[in-house]
Amino acid sequence: MYAQLMQEQGGWSGWREFTLVKKVAETANVSSLYLAPTDALALPAYRPGQYISIRVQVPSLGYKQPRQYSLSTAPNGQFFRITVKEESLAQAPGYVSSTLHHQMQVGDRVEVSAPMGDFTVKDATKHNVFISAGIGITPMVALLEGLTQMPTSQPPAAISFIHVTQDAAHYALREEVTRLAEHHSRVKTLIHYSQALTGGGRFTLESVPPSLLTDNADYYLCGPAGFIQAVSADLLKRDISPHQISHEVFSTGGLTPS
Ligand SMILES: Cc1cc2nc3c(=O)[nH]c(=O)nc-3n(C[C@H](O)[C@H](O)[C@H](O)COP(=O)(O)OP(=O)(O)OC[C@H]3O[C@@H](n4cnc5c(N)ncnc54)[C@H](O)[C@@H]3O)c2cc1C
Repeated sequence: MYAQLMQEQGGWSGWREFTLVKKVAETANVSSLYLAPTDALALPAYRPGQYISIRVQVPSLGYKQPRQYSLSTAPNGQFFRITVKEESLAQAPGYVSSTLHHQMQVGDRVEVSAPMGDFTVKDATKHNVFISAGIGITPMVALLEGLTQMPTSQPPAAISFIHVTQDAAHYALREEVTRLAEHHSRVKTLIHYSQALTGGGRFTLESVPPSLLTDNADYYLCGPAGFIQAVSADLLKRDISPHQISHEVFSTGGLTPS
């Protein structure tokens, strides 16, 4: 029943084999992977903001591990794109992210789940505010691209894109954000370089122009858990209702024996 439902929706249940068709270094430790189904059959029209699970053989473990990655483009019918930060403490490299960075080559196969998740725009006719930090930018770029592709309401609803990153060299997917903002005047961006913060302070909404944060907007947050907590608390203090705030946390699942 579930498998049939998934197929009717253009999805699938369980794992499907994909081929890595392109790999692009976005920054020194972030790469985008373009994945196309090996069977060349159709891809589902997922909702921007959703993620996939992928499962790869991790050489240092000798078995496969699954991890989740947000899709970092709006659907295009051709490929999925994920944008992965290499997690590497010197003594403990992240198993899957370092495999994707250092082992996976164009032409290699991976197992991929159907897109899932409900971190998606609830109402395109409202002012939507995307606030991310670090690699948390990935679903935001898909959300931004998806909204700019939709027919606009009258008057067109505003979109705020606020991103916190260490410095320009760590700003992944920068060209895409810049291009979308240049082509759509309703998109307002604020890029906050945390290394430029003086006095050891952290990013707060105080530094954001009020026009980018209206009372009736819906807010979407993605980044480290501490960032999401801090920004949510800032929003609640401004009398934004919890119903207006959605978030995605990039937790890691630990090891799954196989
Ligand atoms: C819905 C969702 C969407 C996501 N989207 C993205 C995305 O778009 N891009 C992205 O890059 N990530 C994303 N993630 C995170 C991703 O799923 C992985 O968690 C991430 O890539 C780390 O996996 P890993 O196997 O490389 O690291 P793990 O091996 O799981 O390790 C995680 C961290 O713990 C450290 N660590 C591991 N073992 C030890 C140890 N013994 N002692 C100390 N430290 C240790 C590692 O250095 C690493 O920093 C998402 C997660 C979720 C849940």
